[in-house]
Amino acid sequence: AKCGTDGNFSEGEMVPFGPIALNPSSGVLNYGQGLFEGLKAYRKPDGSILLFRPEENALRMRTGAERMCMPAPSVEQFVDAVKQTVLANKRWVPPSGKGSLYLRPLLMGSGAVLGLAPAPEYTFIIFVSPVGNYFKEGLAPINLIVEDKFHRATPGGTGGVKTIGNYASVLMAQKIAKEKGYSDVLYLDAVHKKYLEEVSSCNIFVIKGNVISTPAIKGTILPGITRKSIIDVALSKGFQVEERLVSVDELLDADEVFCTGTAVVVSPVGSITYQGKSDFTLQGGIRAPRRWRRGPAAVYFTDESPDG
Ligand code: PMP
Repeated sequence: AKCGTDGNFSEGEMVPFGPIALNPSSGVLNYGQGLFEGLKAYRKPDGSILLFRPEENALRMRTGAERMCMPAPSVEQFVDAVKQTVLANKRWVPPSGKGSLYLRPLLMGSGAVLGLAPAPEYTFIIFVSPVGNYFKEGLAPINLIVEDKFHRATPGGTGGVKTIGNYASVLMAQKIAKEKGYSDVLYLDAVHKKYLEEVSSCNIFVIKGNVISTPAIKGTILPGITRKSIIDVALSKGFQVEERLVSVDELLDADEVFCTGTAVVVSPVGSITYQGKSDFTLQGGIRAPRRWRRGPAAVYFTDESPDG
């Protein structure tokens, strides 16, 4: 298979949640050849279960697989695996209105490599956990700090795909921000250091009058599935939506700011701190994850090499 094309994945099996055996010289451990996804299953009031746009996650994983030079599950395989994992974990899907079941698909180079190269084998796993609010603020507005020293992504890098290394690069800024009492970090572009990129785990929107602006997708931010959905909703409600360069200075003048993501859903931003200064006030809310719970995880293997 070529980078990003269909992998020859096995049928897959449901195994108890727990540690997996991994080759010490696997591509994921040595060269960060890994991707993940995040999506939620919600319980509807009638008790049935709803998955939010899983095809979109499948497609994003395929785009990521191309960038990371990995074979990927087909959209059909991905969605089928997601459905089977939800069915096997039905009892962990919280009641309607009491949170959701978060699903974490992982795609990794599990085969051994020593010299820098794509791994010769890949593993696709989905594990789950019931979750509630992402932020400790719950439904209250969150407080962001604009990061001007660390960057999440650079042009030409991997910021546009959901690869594990993007998250490694922000662990430190995230920890420092949380210790200072902020909910999360808002990143700026690495070239001009003045245009908004995104928050550690969500996309950002700025409202001014009838215009909702959000940073354009240009390879350094994640094309959020919630972002896309919110843009559609905003347009249908008669708002004007602009995907463009949004300067950090525009925050000072904004009527409202909010973040979107699978985990954070739609989180109102109550204050933003930039170089110790700026700030504004709003209303709003979100949900934080509890500890990972045990439940069946689906595992799929391939013996395929992307350059073979
Ligand atoms: N940006 C980053 C860096 C993220 O990790 C996420 C969460 N996947 C998002 C944005 C929001 O994407 P989505 O709406 O698809 O969850």
